Amino acid sequence: MEIYEGQAIFQGIAIGTIRYHYDRGQFRYPNGISDVKQEQVRYQSVKEEAVEQLTQAYREAVAAAQERDALLCRRQLQVLAEPGFSSAIESMIRTEKVTVSYAVSATRDEMSATFAGLKDEAVLNRINDIREIADRLLYILGGLAREKFTPEEPVILAAEKLSPSEVMELDKSKVLGFLTQSGSALSHTSILVKAMNVPALIHIPVQSKWEGRMCIMDGYAGKAYVDPDEAFLKEYRKRQKQERQEQEYLQSLKHKEDITADGHPVCLYANISNMEELDCVLENDVKGIGLLRSEFQYLGREGYPTEKELFQAYRQAAETMGERLTVIRTLDIGTEKKEAYMGLPEESNPAMGNRGIRLCLQRKRMFQEQIRAIYRASAYGNLAIMYPMVTSVEEVREIRKIVDEVKEGLRAQNIPYKEIQQGIVVETPAAVLMARELARELDFLHIGTNDLTQYTLAMDRQNPQLKERYQENHPAIMKMIRMTVREGHREGCWVGICGELAADTALTAEFLRIGVDMLSVVPACILPVRKVIRETKVGEGFSSRLQ
Ligand code: PEP
Ligand code: MG
Repeated sequence: MEIYEGQAIFQGIAIGTIRYHYDRGQFRYPNGISDVKQEQVRYQSVKEEAVEQLTQAYREAVAAAQERDALLCRRQLQVLAEPGFSSAIESMIRTEKVTVSYAVSATRDEMSATFAGLKDEAVLNRINDIREIADRLLYILGGLAREKFTPEEPVILAAEKLSPSEVMELDKSKVLGFLTQSGSALSHTSILVKAMNVPALIHIPVQSKWEGRMCIMDGYAGKAYVDPDEAFLKEYRKRQKQERQEQEYLQSLKHKEDITADGHPVCLYANISNMEELDCVLENDVKGIGLLRSEFQYLGREGYPTEKELFQAYRQAAETMGERLTVIRTLDIGTEKKEAYMGLPEESNPAMGNRGIRLCLQRKRMFQEQIRAIYRASAYGNLAIMYPMVTSVEEVREIRKIVDEVKEGLRAQNIPYKEIQQGIVVETPAAVLMARELARELDFLHIGTNDLTQYTLAMDRQNPQLKERYQENHPAIMKMIRMTVREGHREGCWVGICGELAADTALTAEFLRIGVDMLSVVPACILPVRKVIRETKVGEGFSSRLQ
């Protein structure tokens, strides 16, 4: 028997066989494909689709006498027709054995870089055309599914590292637990893993030779036993049985109200990162969704989602939740949440880089499409919209301008929408210090303690070397929560917590006493937090502004 000790990011016991998951990144580029021919055929079909779309757009522009648009379409059709761009892509697929999406984005970047220094108008137009065509091809490719991880029987998944998109693509019914070498408790990968309600350990020296071997995972002690002895297996089977009994007690809290022991209703909401988790929200009878991380729609694919795809997902959430509030957070890509098709340059300090709202305000078309999709879906339920990484009132005003333009466009087309609450994630010290001014412009503030902790303590939330010092309930963070609640309330906003700290049951009573109006936690933590809420007395004077 081999014993390994790591850090538990989700508790529980799992017993099963290990399946070693190779780092897909290493295969995807540059040697990601075995069938060059198939990839070339794929390129031909997306190119044909792009030509069709552009020809249609050209005809419409001519009919509407929009000369500029017609000219743009003609120029772009020409780029696709002449050999330069297409043959560069085809030759890259052939010689470097890369996927179409990689070849398209790499060709775009190379061609733009080659001409970047030139100021000539014709050259600038050409760079622009190439970028737009590449984006269109990547959009079209977005509809094509990727290969997924599908073991036949439930397994313990062991991997050196997992990206958020890899976790999102997993068949959840086939995973008993996670063992990974790298990672940190607050990374986005870990947040997604926690939502799966199975034990998870990080900092385990995972090895490919473990494939097919038996393993016990102890998510309480942070240990993994590979090839366990019979006596261990017996002991852990017993413990697993006890654990199931405790789970049964928690299960009896499903459909029970979130009400304190002295009778005050509490707003306990769920954080979800994909549509499959909606079922879990309904099962636990949660009052609403406090954070819908919309990145799932953009990750694990090879091109941007279309407005229609976005709309359909938001409409599904709105309709499923009915009267219950669903807070959709707009795209927070950047840091480790990105895909090749987005063409994001490497940054020396990505957590402090071009992420969240900063990127969205730069890529206006992408942002507008998402906002339009959210507003279109608002007609079907009770939605709210929330913006990540906002640090100033000016940003809020810039966002509001875009929102107004989107609404105006919908009105002009007679597309129904509702006026919905607007809020931000308070996740930087700047936002805390400006909470009052920001609150004046908004309906709610939602405290994102995951990022707020890393930016306040100046400690990377992903750095395993800092795990001993990384204190999520640091007095500075508690002070910031108090301050945000006070300032938000002064301006009539409701104030919630949607970072992982909201699920810390040792702090539940304190959060309620501070006056936090909503606690939003991953579905797997709903019942444990509900248990504590029902055991807590908060005294007179407590009432959530969200009731
Ligand atoms: C946070 O930062 O606390 C938050 C909710 O956002 P994310 O974890 O997705 O960065
Ligand atoms: Mg955040």
